[in-house]
Amino acid sequence: MNLQDYIRDIQDFPKPGIGFKDITPLLLSSEATAFCLETLVNSLQNQKIDKVIGVESRGFFFGMLLAQKLNAGFIPVRKPKKLPFDTISASYELEYGTDTLEMHVDAIQPGDKILIHDDVLATGGTAKAVCELVEQLGGEIVQMNFLMELSFLNGREKLGNKEIFAALTY
Ligand code: 5GP
Repeated sequence: MNLQDYIRDIQDFPKPGIGFKDITPLLLSSEATAFCLETLVNSLQNQKIDKVIGVESRGFFFGMLLAQKLNAGFIPVRKPKKLPFDTISASYELEYGTDTLEMHVDAIQPGDKILIHDDVLATGGTAKAVCELVEQLGGEIVQMNFLMELSFLNGREKLGNKEIFAALTY
């Protein structure tokens, strides 16, 4: 199966000049979703995972599926002021200004083996902030995986020598 057939290019979204990769055609296909999930799970080569992090909001779709498949718990990482309990936070640079992500303080116990999932790795700012959240609570990052990596934006360079896998690379 060619996953690329299920990704739609949208020009000038969300702003003029930006080409956006739309994953909703993939979500519409149960076969493509199953294939993608299997690809992500196989990349882990049976490494034990205690908890899967899904990043708001498109990281929630496969994040939860991965957690179930791996017999792991699921942790939502969210935009500020969305989580109801006590939180920790990490900020990252945008083209103009900064953005912040939050996680519940009790989501990770020291030594937990963590899989971080998001739909797209672009500049890597989001993933780096999530790594900081995991490290604040003493979790061990086993892998970061993505439906796709936009390799021309060099996100990997921000993420040091972490294990990174993408089902599709542009
Ligand atoms: P980064 O922080 O790596 O620059 O951007 C990654 C974040 O932005 C991810 O949470 C992802 O959902 C979103 N993102 C950036 N570009 C795209 C895109 O072309 N398509 C989709 N679906 N998400 C994107």
